[in-house]
Parts: sequence; C-alpha cells; structure tokens
Amino acid sequence: MCRRVLRHSLKSVNRHSKADETQQDYAFRYRLDLESAKTPVFHHRLAELVRAVLESLLNVVVPQSSGKDVKVDGFRWLMDREQNYPLFCNLDKASAPSAFGAPRGNRLLEPENGDGAVFQSVANASLYEPRIDLIAKLTESILALVGFEYQGKPVEVDGFKLKDLHDWIVPSTGSTGEVIDYAGSSCSCDCVFCCNRGNPPSVAVSNGMSRAAEEDFAEIKTRIEYFSPENGLALFPSLGSVYEVTTHPFFLAMLRRLRAKTSRPFRITTNGNNLTPKVVAEMSELKPVYLYFSLNSSSPSRRQRLMRDSNSQTAIDALPLLKEHLIPYAAVIVPWPLDTMSEMLDDLSATVAYAASQEANMIQVNLPGYTRCFSPIPEVDFHRVWEAVIEQVRELREKHDCPIVAMPTLYEENIYHKSKNLAQIIGVVKNSPAYFGDLRKGDIILDISGFPVRSRPQARDLLSALRQSQANALSLKVQRGTSTVQINLDLSKHSYPYSPDFDAYLGMVFLGAGFRVSYLEDLKQVIEARRARRVLFLSSELVKPSLEQCLAETRLFTNSAAKIDIEVPQNRFFGGNIFMGDLLVVQDFIDHIQGYVARRGFKPDLVVIPSSPFNLSGWGRDLTGRVYLDIERVTGVPVELLPCATVYE
Ligand code: SF4
Repeated sequence: MCRRVLRHSLKSVNRHSKADETQQDYAFRYRLDLESAKTPVFHHRLAELVRAVLESLLNVVVPQSSGKDVKVDGFRWLMDREQNYPLFCNLDKASAPSAFGAPRGNRLLEPENGDGAVFQSVANASLYEPRIDLIAKLTESILALVGFEYQGKPVEVDGFKLKDLHDWIVPSTGSTGEVIDYAGSSCSCDCVFCCNRGNPPSVAVSNGMSRAAEEDFAEIKTRIEYFSPENGLALFPSLGSVYEVTTHPFFLAMLRRLRAKTSRPFRITTNGNNLTPKVVAEMSELKPVYLYFSLNSSSPSRRQRLMRDSNSQTAIDALPLLKEHLIPYAAVIVPWPLDTMSEMLDDLSATVAYAASQEANMIQVNLPGYTRCFSPIPEVDFHRVWEAVIEQVRELREKHDCPIVAMPTLYEENIYHKSKNLAQIIGVVKNSPAYFGDLRKGDIILDISGFPVRSRPQARDLLSALRQSQANALSLKVQRGTSTVQINLDLSKHSYPYSPDFDAYLGMVFLGAGFRVSYLEDLKQVIEARRARRVLFLSSELVKPSLEQCLAETRLFTNSAAKIDIEVPQNRFFGGNIFMGDLLVVQDFIDHIQGYVARRGFKPDLVVIPSSPFNLSGWGRDLTGRVYLDIERVTGVPVELLPCATVYE
C-alpha cells in the first residue's frame, strides 16, 4: 500500500473515532521570534527576505537538476546580472545555534497571558520537524516587510497553530515509546548523575517544560489517535527531555488508552518509586510490559543520597512485586562514587545480587558520565572508576546467572577483547531457549542452522530473523574453550523472566551490536563516487578500534588509491567525560576539520562521518537542531554521511 493510501485510511479511521468521542485535536502552537528579523544580514529588506527564505529552505530540501543534487550558495535578482547575494555567509554568527548559547525559540511550552494557551518549542521542531521551523522563519521574514490586516484594521500576529494534523503524519517505527515518553515531563527524583540536568542550554531537547498534566494528556490523547503502528505512521515527534513517566497523574489512563489501540509491547523506563502494589497490579493487566528499572542501589539510604528519592523503599520493594506479576525488567545501575571507590563497588555487588535474586531479566550497568554543565564537576578520575566497574562486572558475571552488561559495551570490548566483533555470548537470560539449550557465558557462535557466522552483527541478524520465522527449533555450533559443541534450541521452551516479546536473540546476550562489515562496502562506494584520494573519516574513541580491525581484515580497499585517515573529534559541546561519538554536534566536527587542515596543511578531498549523531530525527540534525550540511558550508570540505545505526547498546 502506498503512503498516500495509508494516510487516507488513517484519516478516515481517525475521523470515525473522533465523531464517536467528540475529541478535539490538541493545538500545536508556535511563537514567532519577531526580534530575530531585526538583525538582518543584508540591509536591503527584500534581499534579506529572499536570503532568509532560501537559507531556511536549503536546510530542509536538496535542490536537484536532472536528478542530481545541486549545491546552491547564493542568488541574484532575475533583472540584475551584476549583484550577487551570498548565502550562509554568517553561519558562525547568526543562523547557526552557538555551541554555548541557547538557540532561537528555545522557550518551551511557555504559557501565554490570558487564555492559558501554551506554545511548543520551535527549537525542538528544528530537530524533529524542521518544516515547522521553516514556516516560522518564512512568517517572521514576511512580517518584517508587511503588516497584516483584517477588514481594514491591523492585526498583530505573534504565533501560529498547525491547522490539520493529518498534514503532519510521518513514518513511525511503531514503538509504543513514541507515545509513552510524552508522559515523562517531570521526575520524582533528582539524581546526582541525571543526564537531563547536565544538558548545555542549546540542546534542542532541553529542559524547561512546565505545563499542566491535563495539557500533557491532551497532547498524548491526540498522539494516540494518530498513532498507527501497523501502518508505520504517527504524528510528528516533538519530545523534550524525558523524565519519569509512571508518576504522571494520567500514566495508567494513557497506557489503557494505548492498549486499546495496539497490542504492541510497552517498554517503560522508570525510577520505580511509584511502583506500589496497586500500580504494578494494574500494569500487569496491560501486558506485554517490560521495565527498564533505574534501581541504582538496593540500599534505601544510598539510593536516597544518589537519587534524592524520599520513596526509595517503595522502589526496592517493587522488584518482588514485578516477579510476582511476571513483568520482565532490566535492573539499571549507575555506579556513582559517592564516598569511596570501594564503597561504590561493594554497593554495586550487593545491588546486582539483589536484582539477580529477584529474577531480573538482565542487569545493565551504565558507566557514569557527566558533561561540562554539571556543577560542581566531581573531582574523581572517571577512567579509573570505569575500569574498576568493568572489572567488577566481569567478576559478578561469574557469580550470578543473570546476564550483566556494562554500557556502552564497546568500552569493555576495547579493553578486554583483542579480537573485536566476535559473536561471543556474555550472558544467558534465565529460562530462555538459550538457557534450556545449555548455552553458556563465553561460548562463541560459529554456525546457526547451517549458516556460518563471522561476526556479531551477522549472528544477531540471523537469530532475530529465525526467531521471527515459524521455526520451532534451531541448531548452533559454538566454540567452548578448545572444543566445538553442537547445541539444539527448542524455541517454544521458555518461561519468566524471559519473554519472547522483548528478546530478539532467544536469551543470548552479546557485547552490543558490533561493527557491520557492510559499512565498509558503503564507505568504498562513497569514496569511489566522489573519486576522493585523501579521505578523513571521523570516528569515535569507542568505534575506532573495531573500524581499524575491520579495515585491516578486508580486501575491499586493496586496489584503492584512497588514503583514509581515521581521527576522533573531541566532544567539546558536551564536555566533561562524554566520549560517545553519537553525542558529537556539528560544531565539534567543524572544529576538528579546521584543526586537521591547519595541522596537515591541506584540505582532504572528502570527510566521511557516520550518520549516527544525526539519526535522531531523520532530518540530519544534531542535538542542537543544527543541520549537518553546515559542516561543509563552514569548512569548504565535501562531507558525506555514512548511514549507520546508533551504537549505544
Ligand atoms: S530518575 Fe531518571 S529522570 Fe529522574 S532524576 Fe534520576 S536519572 Fe533523571
């Protein structure tokens, strides 16, 4: 079915249900920033209008000629052959959000005087739905030139509202989180490590949301109305920072409404302090439900200090309740050094033991991080903390039969695994097909149902595909120590805490997704299409070792004339100890390329950047809402994004 037909069917379904319930669509309103038009680049007002319109347009469309992309960096009037007006000549000053300042329109959901109406954030729209930002900029530019009238009288305009939400339906993954997360507008805790409080002000999903719970729910109801997971469609996203969803007064009402719409699983992240016996019992009526439970500590007093949670005991007591109601969950722990390192590690051990005894489906240990905006910045050597945590996790894996992963998983692989990307199992979910088939920690998969396995991504893809097929059994060949062992799995044999609704790999847990060799084939194509000789590939500290190993093993570049430099840009925007490549922003890439050119004394023919820092919205935006095209506009070096998945796993 083509998208237009899908959209039409969704439209008729929505119209039907609305007639039954007389529910009105939530009003998505945006405030205009009329001050921005008062700082023009060109002082000729009509030229300024065209500049603003073209620059905004070129941030959401790619002009083409005869089917090929065309770069545009200026314009002239049709009647004037002489004067040229450059575009994007003030990127570092006006149109680009500064790395350290707040971008335009980052006034989230600001209440208006009078009727109590609230505005959505234009900065947020620039990230997820930049066509709204385009409309805002067009309107602001026009209002700099004309005044609107109605029946001969001036009309003041300071905002706009989306008319028909059917125009704003976009492709959806079908994940119910696309709706549930809108209930996370506040939190009942205030964790010392909360990533939301360490966001620099120009992050487009920044904080500042303050509106009534009824207003949240009105938007959520509209989002449920337009959510069509079976057709892969939903209303455009506009998420702010996501905090705790379970404490929202309409949390259960939202889940019930969503369950009436779809049988898709609910994956919910929670700090657990609202998980009373009543709430857990009600959630169990809405299965399939899986919780990412931020337990952090099984000691009420330590949890209270870490999370400033006055309700710690409720959260800790919720684990046996989840077990009783057969709701699978991952226990999430951030080991944060409050006093001494040994105190932190002892608590990690005790917390893992508690979660394992309460049948956690898995335990996820997140390496603690902080940004430059944390205040005060902890005086701790975090590299020492990370190494100690990984060492402890590896010891704990030997003591418990619950899988324990340390995130980001590549950190452990880089330290402990000389050979990267192996399909090695680091844990097995209790009562899963893998568990009953006697797969063990340390097994390396060599073959799945007759398909030879050469890498972790390949193993995961095969397992996932076979799980979704009608197959009831599969055979594996694994390397166990120095022996090769044949394993037969009965896919129908499983029980709690395993759940086929939430586990793609039949209970096998790996060190993350691994590096796809197909990325190298794509890289080769990009280099050849550009006929580039000197290529700069901007990777991350985490991925670089796997990339280098795969490049050394492949023959794809044997006859290539291209020389590839792999470098790692510093994450200056987030700062602190943040080193994830997916958190780099446009300005970090610009800074690095400019430094490279200054160091090497030449410009590369091509810069290749993994697409993952720009994956959030599909519109090539970084977390400040800035488009990746600015990298090339500022540095003058051709830039290509290499499509690849986000690696945080
Ligand atoms: S529970 Fe989560 S959202 Fe709430 S303060 Fe802690 S880390 Fe932040």
